[in-house]
Amino acid sequence: MTPLLDVKDIRKSFGALQAIGGVSFTLNRGEILGIAGPNGSGKSTLFNILTKIPFPPDSGEVSLDGKPLKSLGPRQIVDAGLLRIFQTEMDFESLTVLENILVSMPDKPGSGTPSSKQKKADELLELFGLTAHSDRLAGEINVYDRKRLMVATAFAHNPLVLLLDEPAAGLSKPEIEEMVELIRQLNRLGVSIILIEHIIPLLVAVSDRLIVLNFGEVLAEGLPREIVRNPKVVEAYIGN
Ligand code: ADP
Ligand code: MG
Repeated sequence: MTPLLDVKDIRKSFGALQAIGGVSFTLNRGEILGIAGPNGSGKSTLFNILTKIPFPPDSGEVSLDGKPLKSLGPRQIVDAGLLRIFQTEMDFESLTVLENILVSMPDKPGSGTPSSKQKKADELLELFGLTAHSDRLAGEINVYDRKRLMVATAFAHNPLVLLLDEPAAGLSKPEIEEMVELIRQLNRLGVSIILIEHIIPLLVAVSDRLIVLNFGEVLAEGLPREIVRNPKVVEAYIGN
């Protein structure tokens, strides 16, 4: 079976710094793939170049659902179903929670009246636990609610693949547990997920498979429980 996302030998340098050096991997349909790695190992850059926001890879090939992304711009990649959230909050602070969701929902021709769009938005608010905050400005809600809002706005696009960059950063322990449950729920709803986290127990708990990046290259790949015991991985983290 062709993988849902197929990444072949992608590279990205900033001047003399090789941020991503020849990374290849696949994401299978229905899978949650975790990505770990020390600070500066290239995790966020990987999401940047996959989505071309803000820049494409220098070289390499990426295909989504069998279609090459090479000739597509960032907007077309979103329309094709590859969506990401950023490590820092990137929602619209001066819009309400509901408005953030409404502006993220695609306007498919013939797909509906304003009231059906409102209904879908209400369902999303409910799913993400944001109903009570619907009319508050995004800039005024707490970190956890903003993280959930960012995931909600990405999910509102009906993605095939969601790329989550440290969705649990800055959250308390109970909030992290809820975030894990939310990620699992989105996955059960049919979304395949790549999850970047530096919280290793979270990655082990939620990922079907784990990739560890180090200096922009794949250091190890496999089952989460085995990967975290891998001596090379342990050394990369202690050496950091
Ligand atoms: P991670 O997310 O794993 O912490 P990043 O992907 O953010 O790491 O960064 C990987 C490396 O690339 C770092 O050395 C970082 O300083 C560098 N880098 C990332 N983005 C840029 C950029 N836009 N310009 C220059 N260097 C960058
Ligand atoms: Mg990062």
